[in-house]
Amino acid sequence: MVNTDDRPPRIHRSVTEDRVHALCMRRLHSLDNPGICLGCGVENDGVEPDARAYQCEHCGKPRVWGCDEVLIAGLYHPNKK
Ligand SMILES: [Zn+2]
Repeated sequence: MVNTDDRPPRIHRSVTEDRVHALCMRRLHSLDNPGICLGCGVENDGVEPDARAYQCEHCGKPRVWGCDEVLIAGLYHPNKK
């Protein structure tokens, strides 16, 4: 399928740099594997850190990314100054 939409995919406004950073730190310091849905912003559990486009357990859309992958790809909103 060819993506003809040049706009970057919309990222839920609750997905901020601070929040993604906190998820990554939690993964490092616990047995949790948090991922985040870029569509609805709901955290999903049991998501590999390098996951992309998993199905969201809340909204059902394939927009769940692992925390590390979100951070690396920069798919978050900058913190408000
Ligand atoms: Zn979702």
